[in-house]
Amino acid sequence: MAAASNNFVARFRPLRLPRVCVAVIGSDPAEMVEKAESLLRDNTFLEFRLDYLPRPALALPKIRQFTEFHPHVIAIATCRRAASGGKFKGSIASELDILNKAAAAGCQLVDIELQTAVRCKPQQLERLRASAALILSFHDFHATRKLEQALEKMVAIPADFYKLVTNATTVYDNVVMMKFIEKNSDQHSLIGFCMGEQGIISRVLSLRAGSVFTFAAVSEDEKTGPGQITAQELRGTFRIEQVDAATRVYAVAGDPVAHSLSPAIMNAALRRETVNGVYLALHAKTLKDLLACVRDIPIHGLSITMPYKESIVPHLDNTDSHTTKIGACNTVVRAQDGNLYGFNTDAVGVVRPLQARMELENAKVLVLGAGGAARAAVFGLKERGAEVYILNRTPGPAQKLARSARARTIKRPDLKKLSFDVIINATPVGMGNTHESPLNENEIKAHYVFDMIYDPPETRLLKMAKAAGAEVIPGIEMFVHQAARQFEIWTGKPAPIDEMLRVVTLALHERVAAHQAKEAKKK
Ligand code: NAP
Repeated sequence: MAAASNNFVARFRPLRLPRVCVAVIGSDPAEMVEKAESLLRDNTFLEFRLDYLPRPALALPKIRQFTEFHPHVIAIATCRRAASGGKFKGSIASELDILNKAAAAGCQLVDIELQTAVRCKPQQLERLRASAALILSFHDFHATRKLEQALEKMVAIPADFYKLVTNATTVYDNVVMMKFIEKNSDQHSLIGFCMGEQGIISRVLSLRAGSVFTFAAVSEDEKTGPGQITAQELRGTFRIEQVDAATRVYAVAGDPVAHSLSPAIMNAALRRETVNGVYLALHAKTLKDLLACVRDIPIHGLSITMPYKESIVPHLDNTDSHTTKIGACNTVVRAQDGNLYGFNTDAVGVVRPLQARMELENAKVLVLGAGGAARAAVFGLKERGAEVYILNRTPGPAQKLARSARARTIKRPDLKKLSFDVIINATPVGMGNTHESPLNENEIKAHYVFDMIYDPPETRLLKMAKAAGAEVIPGIEMFVHQAARQFEIWTGKPAPIDEMLRVVTLALHERVAAHQAKEAKKK
């Protein structure tokens, strides 16, 4: 498809562009175009990052063939100079020349950065704009600040789209970006989002605020901007095509949250139950930042994780009895009156998998640990009439917990003499690739051994317990049940537990396989 004779402004009215543009890179023109071909089944909107090629001009004949062969595809050509954060080492004149040729080769949009545009003659930009829609882009790789001033400078240069991309150093920066888009997207066709791990939520929510589209990476290894999400994740996990102003926003908030499985499990549940909602990961480095963000983003529900489960409690308007007793909250819901209510679903996460297998009344249960998760287990089990024993590395917290929950403490040397209906590990011992166990073989005398750890899916403790003839309950069951209860609190619908279990099991196994592949590569 030759691009010369079109009225681009009319053709690319914002609403007619797809919502996700996939950035394509390659080490040579053939690889770049092959990648573009491989994306076509799911993506009709691509950005050719010509600056990633050692000699961008050599890609143009192949791009022409590609656009002629796939007239339904919309392509952006970008050849960002190194001075503006790209990889192109050539002059402004060479960048313009490449973009003009890319437009002639069928790229219907071209991206030029503000620093370059201000140094161009108006006629040079007009010429470019005669054959392609112009995206004028602005990047701030350090912070999210002075967006209005940047836009003022940008709109002095006629363009079809104004793109502002800034680095998020707090989660509140996403709010700043979204408010800016909401305020200005009526007057200008804006594309805006934040970069960096803390800016990830804006890549989804900016569309809700009015950004014309967002960018995605082909794969984890081919990200062209920090914090970029893959197209598959944007569509599959976050259901970006359905996000609109009515979409309810849910998130897991903590530090760190990058490896949380909550977005996978919760988005799967929202999809299965056809709830118009999206569940994101908020990487908040301080509670103050998290609370500021929660006030301003219309968040409907939050999963609270380390290190805020306890410190958030005084900031909530009300809490359920579990949160009050345990002193920790893992679930927040914003009620219609705007107030924030706290719940603790970890107790349910422990109790439900056990109740599915046994009667808890008078059951003799040993809980290892006296931290937040142990407290949830102890109170949850005591409520069901279990006889609870606590063993902790440091005696003080165990005694305190035992006193407040009317449970008992035991000393480690006594373990060999005792047997239990259930042993629950509520310590992090055995997590990751440590292959450690909180108990020795001769200390495991129980019908059921329940390990709260879910990564790895089968811990050393569980392997030893199986060998000793016990039935094992993996931490993934607790993870699914505490998440299911959150889902019920937020939506009022029963949670699709089987689907949640399926998705999280798959995600965990993929994680294990990726880790093994990485290890094998190292050898
Ligand atoms: P926490 O509040 O930090 O408490 C940790 C507890 O483990 C403390 O009692 C601590 O004892 C003990 N501990 C830590 N390191 C130890 C070691 N090397 N040897 C012996 N004891 C040790 O943590 P938490 O929030 O309760 O979480 C505990 C575990 O449960 C974590 O692995 C977490 O991932 C898991 N969890 C799983 C789920 C799920 O959905 N499956 C939900 C919540 C938590 P001291 O008092 O001596 O420090």
